[in-house]
Amino acid sequence: SVASRLRQEFDDYVSQFRDTANFAAYDASYGALIAGGANERFGTLRADLDGLVQSLAQRRASLASDAVRDSVAAQKMLAVLGLGATLITLLGSVAVGRSIARPVLRLTAMMNQLAAGDTELAVPGTQRRDEVGAMARAVGVFRANQVARREAELSLRRTNFLFDAALNSMLQGMIVWGPDQQVLLVNNRFYEIVGMPQGCLTTGLKPRDVAEIAIGHGLHPGSSVAVITGKITAILSAGCPMHFEQEMSPSLVVQLASQPMANGGAVMTFEDITEKRQKEAQIVFMARHDALTGLPNRTLFKEHMEAMLQAGEQGEAAGTAAFGVLCLDLDHFKEVNDTLGHPAGDELLRQVAVRLRDCVRDGDMIARLGGDEFAIVLASQPGGAPDAASLASRLVASVSAPYEVQGHNIVIGTSIGIALSDPGLSSADMLKRADVALYRAKEERGTFAFFEPGMDKHLQARLGMEADLRMALQRGEFELNYQPLYNLAQDRVTGLEALIRWNSPTRGRVAPTEFIPLAEQSGLIIPIGEWVLRTACAEAAAWPDHVRVAVNLSVIQTRNRHLVGLVRDALECAGLPAHRLELEITESVLLQDTEAVMTMLRTLHDMGVRVSMDDFGTGYSSLSYLRRFPFDKIKIDRSFISDLRGGAGASEASGDATAATFAAAASNAAMIVRAIVGLGENLGISTTAEGVETAQQFAQARQNGCAEVQGYFISPPRPADEVMDLLRRLDATLPAIARRGVAAPA
Ligand code: C2E
Ligand code: CA
Ligand code: CA
Repeated sequence: SVASRLRQEFDDYVSQFRDTANFAAYDASYGALIAGGANERFGTLRADLDGLVQSLAQRRASLASDAVRDSVAAQKMLAVLGLGATLITLLGSVAVGRSIARPVLRLTAMMNQLAAGDTELAVPGTQRRDEVGAMARAVGVFRANQVARREAELSLRRTNFLFDAALNSMLQGMIVWGPDQQVLLVNNRFYEIVGMPQGCLTTGLKPRDVAEIAIGHGLHPGSSVAVITGKITAILSAGCPMHFEQEMSPSLVVQLASQPMANGGAVMTFEDITEKRQKEAQIVFMARHDALTGLPNRTLFKEHMEAMLQAGEQGEAAGTAAFGVLCLDLDHFKEVNDTLGHPAGDELLRQVAVRLRDCVRDGDMIARLGGDEFAIVLASQPGGAPDAASLASRLVASVSAPYEVQGHNIVIGTSIGIALSDPGLSSADMLKRADVALYRAKEERGTFAFFEPGMDKHLQARLGMEADLRMALQRGEFELNYQPLYNLAQDRVTGLEALIRWNSPTRGRVAPTEFIPLAEQSGLIIPIGEWVLRTACAEAAAWPDHVRVAVNLSVIQTRNRHLVGLVRDALECAGLPAHRLELEITESVLLQDTEAVMTMLRTLHDMGVRVSMDDFGTGYSSLSYLRRFPFDKIKIDRSFISDLRGGAGASEASGDATAATFAAAASNAAMIVRAIVGLGENLGISTTAEGVETAQQFAQARQNGCAEVQGYFISPPRPADEVMDLLRRLDATLPAIARRGVAAPA
């Protein structure tokens, strides 16, 4: 009975332990207690067993003494019984100690390890069929659970990380709303876009809170909290995808998209499209404006004109006044561009645009049509033509005032053509009319002209001549004539001026005064001028060494930066020494007092080329020019010479009053000539009298101290092949005539 009680007790213990172990599989902290608990129980159990063994021994002793007394058989039986009990006790304690207690201790230690997170261990004894085996298997299951849970945790953490990364590296800002219209989640980008502090939209906020916070941070200026709340609520309640542009502040435009979710919430995304919109607006602006000046371009100008015409048609009945179109073209702009370079040209155009803007009124539109062409649409003009005329003269004055560009003092001008609206005219017609008028204005330069019927024909004629002129060079229709310059000190011809002649097959001989201005306006003067220079140098090379050749330079040529190179090349090709070339320039060259022109003239002068001031007295005649540049020669304009006594006009004068007028003019002219000569002498510049037609003028020129004379009295311009004969004849006959001072040579 002791043995069966013992066994029962042990069974109870094992089942209790199993329960404990099972429970420990779910509760780590309890698992940690198992080891101690088990030890205690084993201790109790051992003590019990010891007590049992002791009591058995006592009982055996008393039974033994009884048996000695009773019978040998009984004594034997008792001895067997005692031995059996001792054996069982021994076996029991060995079994508990060896095969149960130790594995259980190991398993409980393992549970501690597992609970602490160490899953890298093998669970022994799972093969055992007894209770310890069951325990080991339970621990194995616990271990597997631990491993699975750790893996699940890891993968959840990884997923969370990826989700966070994706959420915050999105280009769009995002707000996720729950089904109850409460903020669930806001990504960092949202705050960046709208410029609110990170995290200020906390979970659980309602549309009204969000509206308040947004407005508090300066968004939706001018909108009330109620309006913004209403908007958010409307989007959240729409139940369908929505996207639209929203100006959240003057400097922030977003593309807002809302996508409803299955649970009743919604995802709102915000894309910052401010820059995109600005760029688009800029592209639209650029398509209709000039990049350099910011003025409207031809496209916008035409649109505006169309609108004006339409308004005019509608307003006609109401008596709205007509409007006008002005076409402007800058004079001498190309020269500035050629000499100072494009950046300077650009800067000049910008300054011109500013001045034009200052001249017009608010309703008027100024456009840059291209290059140096501008146009203005005048808003309805109650004053009609007089208004347009007064504006045009203001524009001319404003544009002609000097400019300061990159340290250069620049003077340009403008010519203006004006067309007024007429019933039935298209915008293209009006522009064309203003353009035709511009052509007329450009002939004079620095002025304006209204379109008049018949101007068209004049323009056609000019365009026709321009076209012919373009071909004339290739077709060899030009030739040079030479007019002698007679040196009064040496009494011989020391130079000839090259004068261009155009023999047109259809127009006959065209005077240079007629086609040179046209060549200048069209830019053809550059190739024509080059031809003159090269031809003159080449022909002069055949003349005697003491005879120079004088070549006229147009103001356009002097602004071409290749001029020095061209002169050098022409001289070299012809084999003509530099000192035998004279270049005649007019005052207009110096009007544009740019350093570039001065440098160019000095370079030519330093090369040995002589530079003459042509037609002196007709332009501004500023004496400062003469001081600023070392001219070799001043050519006194023929208007002064013809005014001298003995001029053609004076000899033909009949009435007394007329004679008196001529006498006054003559003494004036003589005074001027003397003054110029005196000035020249002071500056070491020689003087030439131009247009000497009579013996008296010849004598006067000599008397007044001129060094040289030129004019029909000496000889008209003659073709190149007559030059040698002419020189010989003049040198033979002129000295005697000069001394006599009478009768022109034949
Ligand atoms: P310019 O340089 O003053 O040339 C002198 C002009 O006066 C020439 O007219 C000449 O024929 C004319 N002339 C000469 N002596 C007399 C005279 O005694 N009385 C009168 N009334 N006139 C006289 P042309 O050849 O018709 O040339 C006119 C202008 O055309 C020139 O004036 C010059 O400015 C320009 N020109 C001529 N050839 C060229 C050229 O090759 N290049 C450039 N850029 N201009 C030229
Ligand atoms: Ca000349
Ligand atoms: Ca001249």
